[in-house]
Amino acid sequence: MISYSEVPIQEVKADWLTPSQIRLLVRREDLNHPLVSGNKWWKLKYNLKAAKEAGHKTLLTFGGAYSNHIFATAAAAKEEGFKSIGVIRGEETLPLNPTLSFAKHRGMKLHYVSRAAYRLKDDPAFMDELKKEFGEFYLIPEGGTNALAVKGCSELGAKLSETQFDYLCLPVGTGGTLAGIASGLEGSGSIIGFSTLKDGHFLNDAVEVLINDCNSKSYHNWKIETAFHFGGYAKTTTELQRFIKEFQTNHSIPLEAVYTGKMMFGIREMVKAGYFRKGSTIMAVHTGGLASNIFST
Ligand SMILES: *Cc1c(COP(=O)(O)O)cnc(C)c1O
Repeated sequence: MISYSEVPIQEVKADWLTPSQIRLLVRREDLNHPLVSGNKWWKLKYNLKAAKEAGHKTLLTFGGAYSNHIFATAAAAKEEGFKSIGVIRGEETLPLNPTLSFAKHRGMKLHYVSRAAYRLKDDPAFMDELKKEFGEFYLIPEGGTNALAVKGCSELGAKLSETQFDYLCLPVGTGGTLAGIASGLEGSGSIIGFSTLKDGHFLNDAVEVLINDCNSKSYHNWKIETAFHFGGYAKTTTELQRFIKEFQTNHSIPLEAVYTGKMMFGIREMVKAGYFRKGSTIMAVHTGGLASNIFST
């Protein structure tokens, strides 16, 4: 089992919270593990267990060149004694960026495929090709989202429910983490997932399916907020960059521009617009994503 550190819940005191008397708490899951940090720890937990129990020696997964999931999988594989293969979208670009350089140093074999081929990654024929080339492996899908990932994140949801709050906020990519947390909270609180993808509307169906796969239930206490994607996945603006810098200076909480920065910016805008009930408590989940900023060897 990969190690887990208990994480603090930090209160943010900001002038934009004062008029509405809102308490903003941040659960620092970015501190749960030095490398396999944030939501990726919870998403990998039961996948690693299943791979081990089935006797697999190798993990194979997919991702873009800046994927936190690739970074986390490489680190977890190394810690747990698996070989790992990362099927990377696009051509190799040298020098390797910090994410891929880290993955390679942890022993991940990087296998580059064209964008066209990458799109066929769910094709059985493509899977067969990979098996021919690499032998047997335990497959973790792109972004790490599958039923076992949702199960892991439901445990995070259960942990979250130990603290009182009215709203639960988190950033969303594939929706796996949101589905798990919603399952673990079992209908309590009002959950807002901030989509970092431009066309986040597909998430309404995707999350519903993932929740149902996890515990055969359906909850209605969550929604996808699509107004804070800043142009789409990994797109940023100087305004967002400035916000992230100021937030770190004022509150000693580091954020990044792909996920957590967009969520926190969205929370501030919605607080200012009067979206949250006066006097309520917001719990924001810091889902990590910072490790690749720190390790650039
Ligand atoms: C991967 C990631 C997410 C998105 O998680 P999903 O389960 O795909 O929605 C959110 N935040 C961070 C920091 C991530 O690395």
